[in-house]
Amino acid sequence: MNPIPVSHSPRYYADIGQHVMPIRKFDLVAQAIRDAGLPVTFAEPARVSDEDLLRVHSAEYVRAVDTGEPRALAESQKFPWSAALAEAVRWTNGGNIAALRAALQRGVAGNLASGFHHSHRTRGEGYCTFNGLVVAVERLRAEGLIQRAFVLDMDLHYGNGTAFLLADRPYVHQLSIYGNWYDQNLAHRDVSLRRTPDTENARSVAVPAGADGTLYLELLAAHLDTCLDRARPDVLLYQAGADPFREDPYSPLNLDHADLAARDRYVFEAARRRGLPVMWVLAGGYTPDVAQVVRVHLNTCIEATRVFVPEFFSA
Ligand SMILES: [Zn+2]
Repeated sequence: MNPIPVSHSPRYYADIGQHVMPIRKFDLVAQAIRDAGLPVTFAEPARVSDEDLLRVHSAEYVRAVDTGEPRALAESQKFPWSAALAEAVRWTNGGNIAALRAALQRGVAGNLASGFHHSHRTRGEGYCTFNGLVVAVERLRAEGLIQRAFVLDMDLHYGNGTAFLLADRPYVHQLSIYGNWYDQNLAHRDVSLRRTPDTENARSVAVPAGADGTLYLELLAAHLDTCLDRARPDVLLYQAGADPFREDPYSPLNLDHADLAARDRYVFEAARRRGLPVMWVLAGGYTPDVAQVVRVHLNTCIEATRVFVPEFFSA
């Protein structure tokens, strides 16, 4: 059995006090995967370097996150600054690089941290410090391992930070299938009434409030293949958000665990069918009962196993 490589480290965790973002979920998801006995190899990533961050972010912003000054910039992602947090984001971003590299080798890999899709070049936003998706793509491009990449963002929120970063990166395409905006983060808002404008390489699909699993999957199926055909990527980065879940306080969508697992399975099957290496990350999830968030993320790993290690379930 050829296990799935997964990046994780206890160093992903930093104590940020009481916060809507359950940062301890990274450890809980790792434990849930272990408890389920899934065929996964855990690997500790390397810490992301200044050089890696500076391909994507401004020197002033990177310095602010390191030192805590200026404080408003260091906390622009809406976390209270601490040296521990500055260190943790170095490791979670390192995990994205490690997982993307592992995906190229194995065909599939995961990082048990977010892709941080709201982060901009010069500042953070929405609990996202550095944009680990673009950081990982630029590192592997610098190594000559890939030329082109595709980000499929299925977090509840539109991947605005990534879209901005892609404006001068025509070799990376994004499809963001979203049911809410971060900047107007109210439940039961219908984003299909005011869509995000598309660009050449950043496409989006607004999921109407109340959408069920059937519609969600139809929208994914209607857009993923055509966007992939257009982008011709060497690798797929998949933001498998837990916040579209119907019990999430920010979600106006009517999606249960089975619906989100079906979404994950569709994505992994599409990647496998195309021989396209795929790397997944966890992304958002704010259900007060953190066990529900962990279950969404565990299910993503189960679906990756179903598609890439099918003998695990037939044994
Ligand atoms: Zn989100």
